Amino acid sequence: MRGPIVEYSPGKFPKDVDSNGAIAFIDRDGVLNIGSASYINGPDELTILENAPRAIGELKRLGFFVCIVTNQSPIMRGLWDEKQLFSIHQRLRDLFLEQDQDAHFDMIITCPHRHRDNCDCRKPNPGMLHVADQMLRNPNANKINSKQEIVEIDSEYKHVNWWKEKASPKHELDLLVGDRNSDMGAGWAVGARLFKVPEAIGIDSVFKRIVDEKDQGDEFSPLR
Ligand SMILES: [Mg+2]
Repeated sequence: MRGPIVEYSPGKFPKDVDSNGAIAFIDRDGVLNIGSASYINGPDELTILENAPRAIGELKRLGFFVCIVTNQSPIMRGLWDEKQLFSIHQRLRDLFLEQDQDAHFDMIITCPHRHRDNCDCRKPNPGMLHVADQMLRNPNANKINSKQEIVEIDSEYKHVNWWKEKASPKHELDLLVGDRNSDMGAGWAVGARLFKVPEAIGIDSVFKRIVDEKDQGDEFSPLR
């Protein structure tokens, strides 16, 4: 398995809301749910962080596509498989929609690899973010039904020059929320506004900032 695992269910915006064209890239563990050093290994291990559904619902009400981008190496470590991943994510979707009916994830993209697999999707590499850009901002996106697949990353995105300036974003409101520098690196490589959160609090800690179009996000250098 070379590419990331894509769970795709785009185009659901609240009534009377249109896409603003921007993507909110959201890390999972430590941002939406409580993370664990020994991984989240099943749906029963998911604990949603306080007010995380409200934050996702509000991003949808503002017209953002919402895409989770998550590194889950237990898959390539052989601890569990994609079926287990999908059951964890179904539970995550259910819990979010229970608390906020607009808290819909347009995509969930998972890198299953370990560091030594030398893939293009494991954050800080931006491969998963490029896949989301290509699929969600495709004019035919709404015509595609939900699907699950493993995708290849286009070779033009394979090499990031970490010594250059931060990239220009595809959309000026694109944003990334994460709890680690590896998240920030992936967002930096696609020019997103970057918001780093404490893992015990998650996305609620930056709620006011991410809904403020004028907030340019946190300063970040991938070399430090
Ligand atoms: Mg995390």
